[in-house]
Amino acid sequence: MHLIDGNQIATALIAELKAEVATFTGRKPCLTLVRVGEDPASVSYVKKKEKTAAEIGVTSRIILPPVTITQAELFALIDGLNADPTVDGILVQSPLPKHLDEVAVFRRVSPDKDVDGFNTLNLGKVAQEDDTGFVSCTPAGIMELLARSGTDLKGKHVVVLGRSLIVGKPIALLALQKRAGANGTVTICHSGTTNLATLTRQADVLIAAIGRPEFVTADMVKPGAVVIDVGINRVPDATKKTGYRLTGDVHFPTVAPLCAKITPVPGGVGPMTVAMLMKNTVKAFHLRAAL
Ligand code: NDP
Repeated sequence: MHLIDGNQIATALIAELKAEVATFTGRKPCLTLVRVGEDPASVSYVKKKEKTAAEIGVTSRIILPPVTITQAELFALIDGLNADPTVDGILVQSPLPKHLDEVAVFRRVSPDKDVDGFNTLNLGKVAQEDDTGFVSCTPAGIMELLARSGTDLKGKHVVVLGRSLIVGKPIALLALQKRAGANGTVTICHSGTTNLATLTRQADVLIAAIGRPEFVTADMVKPGAVVIDVGINRVPDATKKTGYRLTGDVHFPTVAPLCAKITPVPGGVGPMTVAMLMKNTVKAFHLRAAL
């Protein structure tokens, strides 16, 4: 079994981006992060994004509206960022409080600053295999992990567990694209799928993104499969100072010995998500510079 080291691959990508940004004279790329409320996971994700931006030389700004912000106020804030010529990328941290319509907020971000890749136009470009848009960071990071760990999806049966807009649907579309590294045969499973384990056992590449701790067990995996564990779940653990531990959607101890390759949690897909956000921000900077 080979462990796909997301930290190592993300570090390489970050070093590439840092070298590229160092060549920019004048204004540096600027990423604006909007975090509504104090969701603990969001607080830690946004901190990590700020830290990585600083490491690369990308300017980051953080806006912290109160949890009581209305949809209209959040739209007005996004409109201001869309119009600000010094802002290259905008990221509104998900999840938003329940009273806000998250998809409507994603649509409000100007497509050319949508470094999270959730705007309708950018999702559409993934379906059209049009590289001028932004691919959402977690699916883009998974494709990069697969490519850099020598996994070609061509002719492989790729089974995606989960159909969210953030992970499941876009990764399925990317794996399906008719291009080098992709070209897989894709099955998407969700909570309405019957015989789930029958399908997952057929996977040459299994991508688990359902948000259920250690859901995928050894009996659901074909020996020799490549397993990508997207899940980041906080499970109560009294032995930890924080009171919780992080676990993926895959039961790593029993599944890992069966696999050809597997990503750990933490240290797999997570670091790649942040690295791809930076890659998208640098791309947005180039797009603006070309205007
Ligand atoms: P969502 O909750 O938005 O989607 C979960 C999906 O899994 C849904 O499609 C749901 O089906 C499906 N599902 C849930 N339970 C089952 C089940 N028992 N059987 C079959 N399908 C099921 O989650 P996300 O896609 O946003 O996130 C998934 C996981 O990935 C989470 O742990 C999240 O924390 C993590 N994540 C990690 C990131 C990273 O950087 N590594 C980034 C983003 C997310 P249905 O549609 O029918 O409800």
